Amino acid sequence: MRVHAIETGRVQVKRSQLVGRGHGFARRLAPLLDAEWSDWLPTYAYAVEHREGVILVDSGASAGLMRLPRWHPYFRFAVRFAVEPEQEAAPQLAALGIGRKDVRRVVLTHMHIDHDGGLSGFPDSEVLAAPGELRTASGLAGRLRGYLPERWPKGFDPKPLALEGRPYGPFARSRRLTADGTIVAVATPGHTADHLSVIVDDGDAALFLAGDASYDEAAMLAGIVDGVAPDEGAAAATLAAIRAFAASRPTIYLPAHDPDAARRLKERQTATAASSPAQAGEGGAERRMG
Ligand SMILES: [Zn+2]
Repeated sequence: MRVHAIETGRVQVKRSQLVGRGHGFARRLAPLLDAEWSDWLPTYAYAVEHREGVILVDSGASAGLMRLPRWHPYFRFAVRFAVEPEQEAAPQLAALGIGRKDVRRVVLTHMHIDHDGGLSGFPDSEVLAAPGELRTASGLAGRLRGYLPERWPKGFDPKPLALEGRPYGPFARSRRLTADGTIVAVATPGHTADHLSVIVDDGDAALFLAGDASYDEAAMLAGIVDGVAPDEGAAAATLAAIRAFAASRPTIYLPAHDPDAARRLKERQTATAASSPAQAGEGGAERRMG
């Protein structure tokens, strides 16, 4: 099974979004007020070549994100994109010889705008999203929460990817995405309430396609909760579950915005969770910020 990391342009957010500052409402407000931008970060979508067809995990960012609604404070003050049309997922996959009809399914880890942005490039694919995530992202309430439902492709009707109560390692709910069980969606709530991740078992290692469960591997290892997760406790528990999983078997950890993810995938570098017990979130944050 081959997995491709597709970089769909770059994004900047505030430092206090990468590493949450404070708690509760103050933490959620910080990214709007923070003057300090992050580095430009990649936005990865991951394409998994499986004999049942290609599964694309997240459709990435789109060039349309260069123009965001100005009425929304998050879009106005807290995020910037740099995405060219040829950087969208569909043309990049085509360049790899993967046509849009080869992509059987697009699985969305969540529906933030840089994860469902390239959907219009896959009109023939079945799109799967968690039912709770779809509810959160829809309608006026979704728009107020910073989703862009008005930009979903015409007739957009994702299939509900309801995770079953069947645990997969430390993850309480899961669902197979292929008949052979080598690709599985697991519940990783935190960054959004219904966020999911996709685990690809390629025989030698588990490729953990983490979406925004954490922004990078260091944050996962250190248990750093971001500045936008609605439920800090759920986010921290998910990061602990990922560490437990990575301690139980060789795991290549691949979040959407980790500048080092493509290199780790290429070099098959596994997470060293077992030897890096979670430092207190504060300490980890200081080192990252230092
Ligand atoms: Zn997100």
